[in-house]
Amino acid sequence: MRNTRATQLLFELSHPGRRGSRLPACDVPETSLDELIPERHRATAPTPLPEMPEPEIVRHYANLSTFNMCIDTNFYPLGSCTMKYNSKRNERLANLPGMVDLHPYQPESTIQGMLELLHQMQQMLAEISGLEAVSLQPAAGAQGELTALMCAAAYFRDLGETRTKVLVPDSAHGTNPASANFVGFDTLEIKSTPAGYVDMNDLRAKLDEQVAVFMITNPNTVGLFETNVREIADMVHELGGLIYCDGANMNAILGITRPGDFGADMMHFNPHKTFSGPHGGGGPGAGPIAVTGKLGPYLPSPVVAKDDTPEGPVYRLDFDREKSIGRVRSFFGNVGVLVRAYCYIRTHGPDGLRQVAENAVLNANYLLSRVQHILPVPQGDRCMHEFVASAAQLKSERGITAMDIAKRLLDYGMHAPTVYFPLTVKEALMVEPTETESKQTLDAFAETLFRITDESPELLHEAPHTTPISRPDEVTAAREPVLKWTAAEN
Ligand SMILES: *Cc1c(COP(=O)(O)O)cnc(C)c1O
Repeated sequence: MRNTRATQLLFELSHPGRRGSRLPACDVPETSLDELIPERHRATAPTPLPEMPEPEIVRHYANLSTFNMCIDTNFYPLGSCTMKYNSKRNERLANLPGMVDLHPYQPESTIQGMLELLHQMQQMLAEISGLEAVSLQPAAGAQGELTALMCAAAYFRDLGETRTKVLVPDSAHGTNPASANFVGFDTLEIKSTPAGYVDMNDLRAKLDEQVAVFMITNPNTVGLFETNVREIADMVHELGGLIYCDGANMNAILGITRPGDFGADMMHFNPHKTFSGPHGGGGPGAGPIAVTGKLGPYLPSPVVAKDDTPEGPVYRLDFDREKSIGRVRSFFGNVGVLVRAYCYIRTHGPDGLRQVAENAVLNANYLLSRVQHILPVPQGDRCMHEFVASAAQLKSERGITAMDIAKRLLDYGMHAPTVYFPLTVKEALMVEPTETESKQTLDAFAETLFRITDESPELLHEAPHTTPISRPDEVTAAREPVLKWTAAEN
């Protein structure tokens, strides 16, 4: 039965005069707002806020929260996003008073523990990446890309070179060209071969001394390890360019190989993916970056430094870095996510991290081999941590699309895979089970896919049938304004 509670907006539930709080009696002289706020900043009409008693507000949000699919309630094979189980131990540690009650303006002498943790984190990420210098500041993977490219731009400026181009494969995440564009580079797309790898001929044709950076995702977004990556890096380096590795897929290679070892000069991590930080729903992530020694001086300031003194190590924030591109995020970045990631890395240790990657790859290959007879995987017989299946054949034979399958999975209590990405695969379903799922869960997912692909196309076109809202008209909805009141003139 469809659950329709709480599908109304608070604005629709509002009743004039109802309230959820009562302010204490005013014990200071009242001042008119007119005296405090200049006229041009004052609203011309009261802001229409909903009026609700507390129990109804609680019910509204409690019900809304049950509509959510999350990794704690459902299998969530969202490719490229690495939706692995968020260990509760990491939550508990990150929520210790000594972590959450710190204030970023406290004197350094009173936050030595946190600075030590962040310093160790810098060192661990350097080791995992095979690169020398780390900044923990960027607030998400995309901002990590932007920050690293800003460092690259500063590096070339210092060399007196004006390089204008960034090369990005056509299977890359949309943030790659967006970041390059933000930094002022022209983005050139490099084709993929039919087998799903960087097309070396296209790369040769487009590579020249104007190329500042080649951004590679390895393993790439179709779940294949770019076996030519070393050759690509050598070609780019030969002409003085740099290699950026999009590290979103580190879950496949942790402890097995390192971007620094296969030629990357810069990379970002997604702790909210690889290191089990919670994400989705707009929660904060982080996007630490690691770079080679020659790019280290350009990293954002401050970095956490360690001084060895006769009394033992002292940690401090190092702002004294004249080549730095400056700040990209307030304070120390999203420390809460970094602490969870730190706990994850320390809990697993080097061997454990390698096992994470091995099991992630094993799980993905097991699932691939179970479903490929109904959902063929056009590129690669084997995959890394994820694979991209295609519903193109189902679509041409029975009219069933990747979207239909994705929506119908919700009725069976499973989150959909990523669909229609990358653009290089038709009717793409990008499946990433992660290492935290059991064989039973993977089997249940495969069997659900078999069942769905046997169902009537009409039933599937109307799916989901059990969610509070079925299939929104995403095209029209995007055009309709959500907020209907009129803004004050400014
Ligand atoms: C998630 C992702 C990004 C962006 O990371 P955010 O933390 O979401 O900003 C970049 N590239 C790939 C391949 C990704 O999967």
